[in-house]
Amino acid sequence: MKEVITRFPPSPTGHLHLGGARTALFNFLFARHHKGKFILRFEDTDRERSKDEYVDSIREALEWLGLNWDEGPFFQSKRFEIYQEYAQKLYAEGKAYYCECTKEELEARKKSLLERGLKPRYDGRCREKNLPQGPGRALRIKVPDLSEIVFEDLLRGKILFPPDEVDDFIILRSDGSPTYQFAVVIDDFTMGVTHIIRGDDHISNTPKQLIIYQLLGVSPPQFAHIPMVLGSDGARLSKRHGARSILEYRDEGYLPQAVVNYLARLGWGYGDQEYFTLEELIEKFDLSRVNLSPARFDPDKMLAFNAFWIKTLDNGEILKHLRSFLFPYSIERFSEDYLCRILESVKPRVKTLKEMAEMIDFYLLDEVKVEESARNKFLTPQIKPLLETLLLDMERLNFEDEKILEREFRNLAEASGLKLKEFAQAVRVALTGRTVSPPLFEVMKLLGKEKVKNRLEKAIKMIF
Ligand code: GLU
Repeated sequence: MKEVITRFPPSPTGHLHLGGARTALFNFLFARHHKGKFILRFEDTDRERSKDEYVDSIREALEWLGLNWDEGPFFQSKRFEIYQEYAQKLYAEGKAYYCECTKEELEARKKSLLERGLKPRYDGRCREKNLPQGPGRALRIKVPDLSEIVFEDLLRGKILFPPDEVDDFIILRSDGSPTYQFAVVIDDFTMGVTHIIRGDDHISNTPKQLIIYQLLGVSPPQFAHIPMVLGSDGARLSKRHGARSILEYRDEGYLPQAVVNYLARLGWGYGDQEYFTLEELIEKFDLSRVNLSPARFDPDKMLAFNAFWIKTLDNGEILKHLRSFLFPYSIERFSEDYLCRILESVKPRVKTLKEMAEMIDFYLLDEVKVEESARNKFLTPQIKPLLETLLLDMERLNFEDEKILEREFRNLAEASGLKLKEFAQAVRVALTGRTVSPPLFEVMKLLGKEKVKNRLEKAIKMIF
């Protein structure tokens, strides 16, 4: 079998979103599964709307997801000579012709067709004029007489279009720039692309592209048109459905493993299996399991996937992604081992890395900030003597055993006629600054005696 080559060709006119990322993922997985190549190409012929900033952010998002490309990135804007070369070849062979119709004339004819309820199409009036290249002239494909236009979609089987589906369409604009239909075919052909996996909104582009392949005398790649990603209401996915750019998910504290896993499950399945690593996806991915009904984006499910991967991945990996959220705490001061022990204790309790960073901040701050309401409610004059006793008892206590520590706390509380809960809450507020935290005895063990002592002393001083 020929080496499999797939591509992801975003237009850099916006950030990478879930739908585009899923297309990239499927192309990546298909190529990797078949030990082939995955190409990145920027379709930036629209110079007005294409921005370097989007090129950078799309690259960053793909890298973050781990979708490494083998070739590229290529830029269509740097390949104009190649498009010219093939366009001139088609012209020389009489398969394309120059058209001198002006924009205004074309508009007026289109309008009149529409008014008569007809499909707007070019009437071919420059077809036989044999015009040479010249200012203001676009190059059009001389669409051959066809009985039908047909291709075999890898997911949908035979797709048939009526012979009059395509009019003589433009491949080079009058300024010499290629149209999308032309550039995409020349690129896919010259880059040796064997499989095009793209959204089904591109099905309608396929007939024109097939005609170009035919006129070039080359066989087209295989096509697989995947269903769009929709929002929960069935409309095309947009910001309104809570869908953000991939980098925003990163900044919200999603793990790339979770996003990749969720995207793969969005329209692809493997029995009942829900969770996959990237390696497993590469091993198991195939187009026959792509679901033909449109996938619906479910933000809660994606969040649940994130919680799963936070719980499941090893601490070193989590820490790698958590570091950027811990930036304000100068974490270079702490050992990797300490940081990993901290995050191990909160892993089952959070859904995002951002939440995780917020939950563990008191481990990393020199001074805890005690919430006003927590202080008023729990750091009371009644509890003060008990906190003082605890401080005096500190040397004797064994922090390593949470069970023993709990018993000691219970005894101390009972001896002074207070409830363990009240006592524990006061200590929690002293150590973490708030009323909700990971289990108290776990916190004490991780903070260690020195810090516990300091924070208790400070809390006691706060009580008048
Ligand atoms: N640049 C096109 C897009 O962003 C890609 C079209 C294709 O895959 O052929 O939708």
